[in-house]
Amino acid sequence: MNPLQDTYGRKITYLRISVTDLCNLRCVYCMPEKGVEKRCHTDMMSVEEIIRAVEASADCGITKVRITGGEPLVRKGIVDICRGVSSIPGIEEVCLTTNGVLLPKYAQQLKDAGVSRLNISLDTLDPEKYAMLTRVGKLDDALAGLEAAEKAGFTGTKINAVLIGGINSGEIRELVGITKDKEIDFRFIELMPIGECSSWDKERFIPGQTVLDAVPELVEDGMNGVSRMYRVPGWKGRVGLIDPISHRFCDQCNRIRITADGKVKPCLHSAAEFDLRGLDREGMVDVLRSAIESKPGRHMLEERSSESIRNMNEIGG
Ligand code: SAM
Ligand code: SF4
Repeated sequence: MNPLQDTYGRKITYLRISVTDLCNLRCVYCMPEKGVEKRCHTDMMSVEEIIRAVEASADCGITKVRITGGEPLVRKGIVDICRGVSSIPGIEEVCLTTNGVLLPKYAQQLKDAGVSRLNISLDTLDPEKYAMLTRVGKLDDALAGLEAAEKAGFTGTKINAVLIGGINSGEIRELVGITKDKEIDFRFIELMPIGECSSWDKERFIPGQTVLDAVPELVEDGMNGVSRMYRVPGWKGRVGLIDPISHRFCDQCNRIRITADGKVKPCLHSAAEFDLRGLDREGMVDVLRSAIESKPGRHMLEERSSESIRNMNEIGG
């Protein structure tokens, strides 16, 4: 199947699908302190609907799927979802984004279910800061998750840290230090003004360039998707910068998103949503086509906050 093109000529091949808006952590920039109210299970897509939505996406030319949340590993049936999605003809790569805490329980099952790669979110290596940032998490649990991923045989694992002025901006050299002995990509993501953090002080939003200023030894190492890659010469891993605000990459955007309650989002930062619930595979294909056709040319985060009507835990990043 040839990929669909939007009206700006971008080929859409990448689907990010959220399988739950619930989470076992409460990151201050992502989730309300009290968490989110558990919605009736009939409001959320069932395992079968999720698999049908990915089948319909494959019919539209999607080849890569990222399973996300909330925390995808708290979703009942997550292993069945991964197994189902990875066996869909046309889907070449199934990745999963997680905070890592439940990986000691799930890493091997995910590997066996056909998950190709993991992204693990880890914003700090300081146990106190980790507890403060996640409100309820323990750094050791996330680190145990990282180890479990390695043990289960996952390669190409990426660690993602949201760069937050005054919180982990003083820790950049330590975070980059992870790449010394580990063959891992450590990526810094600019904090985006959406949901919980949309009204935060300007000082919290710092550019990816801060990383290069803090570690001048970093040398350029090409691009990997939307991530500008660097490495410290002689070190095993790489450092990535994902700069949705200071280096907007909308012209290369190849993705659509589906929320856990079955809404297609053509752009992370627009309010537009298209409903997939109650549709058969053909009906879903029609809705996905309309969503792709309506994909906006760019977001406006440089000038104002996200127009998305949802928090990040509902969309999946
Ligand atoms: N719970 C999983 C996790 O944390 O990896 C998956 C869902 S989480 C919403 C996906 C990613 O979005 C995480 O790496 C998180 O740090 C990032 N994220 C959340 N809010 C963000 C924001 N305002 N700006 C940039 N990244 C954000
Ligand atoms: Fe949960 Fe991930 Fe949001 Fe943190 S960033 S609250 S781990 S969904």
